[in-house]
Amino acid sequence: MNPIANPEQAVAHQSAEEILDWARSQFGSRATFACSFGAEDMVLLDMLSRAARGDGQDIRVFTLDTGRLFPETYDLMQEAHEKYAIPIHVVAPDTKELEELISNGGPNLFYSSVENRKACCNVRKVHPLSRALTGAEAWVVGLRRDQSAERSTVEKLSRDSSQGGIWKICPLADWSWNDVLRYVKEHDVPINRLHAQGFPSIGCAPCTRAVKPGEDPRSGRWWWETGAKECGLHPATHARAATGAATH
Ligand code: SF4
Repeated sequence: MNPIANPEQAVAHQSAEEILDWARSQFGSRATFACSFGAEDMVLLDMLSRAARGDGQDIRVFTLDTGRLFPETYDLMQEAHEKYAIPIHVVAPDTKELEELISNGGPNLFYSSVENRKACCNVRKVHPLSRALTGAEAWVVGLRRDQSAERSTVEKLSRDSSQGGIWKICPLADWSWNDVLRYVKEHDVPINRLHAQGFPSIGCAPCTRAVKPGEDPRSGRWWWETGAKECGLHPATHARAATGAATH
């Protein structure tokens, strides 16, 4: 399909399903969905599986297995593997990088300094993400604006300067948490058991704890640190692109 002019405007008022349809028609398997198995990502996985044609042109799905996820997340990963026909490619940290990281800093180095925490996130998340996005023209993520102050400006479609300018597609940008739960209920989507135990945002086990009702949903991530709660996968690169052919 030919690229359309100003795709950001075209998708701005579209539903999540319409945006995924648009992404499929524009990019096909040159688009890839980063599934972290949070409730938002389970919604997107469900939508993608419903629309999948299995003709090799579907949006690809991958997950970053940091090696430090909760047992409940691995249980959900298994359930998703069995429930959905859509293949989920697992991307793991580079073995050599991981060996060096742990040999130098120990397995729980992230608690000792922000620098060490970022080093761990780089090896276990950021570098694998770069590998997963190699050759992709667009990536789909489950970010929502009301997840945090840092995400309040997320656009449904933007150029991701942190990933070489490929398109970043956030079909759920304007969804509320209640919208997510409504879809989960209506479509019988499996979600992580931890969500019901006070974990609105679920990352690696040693770096995530439950939050109290009314607290910032991401305050349970890296709770010993102050400031922005991001790991490097989603730096603030959500500004609208000025123009827009759907290629990069
Ligand atoms: S969230 Fe924690 S364990 Fe996971 S990659 Fe980052 S620092 Fe390492």
